[in-house]
Amino acid sequence: MSAAPAPEPADVCIVPGCGAEAVRHLALAEVRATFDGLPERGRRAPLCRAHYRQWKKATKERRALDRLGR
Ligand SMILES: [Zn+2]
Repeated sequence: MSAAPAPEPADVCIVPGCGAEAVRHLALAEVRATFDGLPERGRRAPLCRAHYRQWKKATKERRALDRLGR
Protein backbone atom coordinates (compact mmCIF):
# COMPACT_ATOMS: atom_id res chain seq x y z
CA MET A 1 0.00 0.00 0.00
CA SER A 2 1.22 3.45 -0.76
CA ALA A 3 0.57 6.55 1.27
CA ALA A 4 -1.64 9.32 0.02
CA PRO A 5 0.08 11.60 -2.46
CA ALA A 6 1.56 14.70 -0.89
CA PRO A 7 0.23 17.88 -2.48
CA GLU A 8 2.91 20.05 -0.92
CA PRO A 9 6.50 20.15 -2.06
CA ALA A 10 8.96 18.36 0.18
CA ASP A 11 9.76 20.32 3.29
CA VAL A 12 13.25 21.27 4.26
CA CYS A 13 14.66 20.89 7.75
CA ILE A 14 13.97 23.98 9.85
CA VAL A 15 17.33 23.99 11.61
CA PRO A 16 19.37 26.94 10.30
CA GLY A 17 22.11 25.91 7.92
CA CYS A 18 20.86 22.36 7.47
CA GLY A 19 18.67 22.32 4.39
CA ALA A 20 18.19 18.55 4.29
CA GLU A 21 14.88 17.02 3.34
CA ALA A 22 12.48 16.81 6.29
CA VAL A 23 11.26 13.40 7.34
CA ARG A 24 9.32 14.40 10.46
CA HIS A 25 7.12 17.28 11.53
CA LEU A 26 6.99 18.33 15.13
CA ALA A 27 5.46 21.20 17.04
CA LEU A 28 7.73 24.20 16.76
CA ALA A 29 7.48 24.81 20.51
CA GLU A 30 8.87 21.35 21.20
CA VAL A 31 11.75 21.77 18.83
CA ARG A 32 12.61 25.21 20.18
CA ALA A 33 13.67 23.66 23.46
CA THR A 34 16.39 21.71 21.67
CA PHE A 35 17.57 23.90 18.79
CA ASP A 36 18.45 27.56 18.99
CA GLY A 37 17.79 30.20 16.37
CA LEU A 38 14.80 28.62 14.70
CA PRO A 39 12.89 30.93 12.40
CA GLU A 40 9.28 31.91 13.06
CA ARG A 41 7.61 29.86 10.40
CA GLY A 42 4.22 28.57 11.39
CA ARG A 43 3.63 26.15 14.20
CA ARG A 44 5.18 23.07 12.74
CA ALA A 45 8.83 22.33 12.51
CA PRO A 46 10.03 20.01 9.78
CA LEU A 47 13.15 18.09 10.75
CA CYS A 48 15.52 15.99 8.72
CA ARG A 49 16.44 12.52 9.88
CA ALA A 50 19.63 13.60 11.60
CA HIS A 51 18.06 16.48 13.48
CA TYR A 52 15.04 14.43 14.40
CA ARG A 53 17.35 11.91 16.00
CA GLN A 54 19.17 14.68 17.81
CA TRP A 55 15.87 16.09 19.05
CA LYS A 56 14.67 12.71 20.15
CA LYS A 57 17.84 12.06 22.07
CA ALA A 58 17.73 15.47 23.76
CA THR A 59 14.08 15.00 24.67
CA LYS A 60 14.73 11.58 26.09
CA GLU A 61 17.52 12.93 28.27
CA ARG A 62 15.37 15.79 29.45
CA ARG A 63 12.57 13.39 30.39
CA ALA A 64 14.97 11.17 32.26
CA LEU A 65 16.25 14.16 34.19
CA ASP A 66 12.73 15.24 35.03
CA ARG A 67 11.99 11.83 36.40
CA LEU A 68 15.11 11.83 38.54
CA GLY A 69 14.53 15.37 39.77
CA ARG A 70 11.04 14.87 41.08
ZN1 LIG B 1 18.40 19.06 9.66
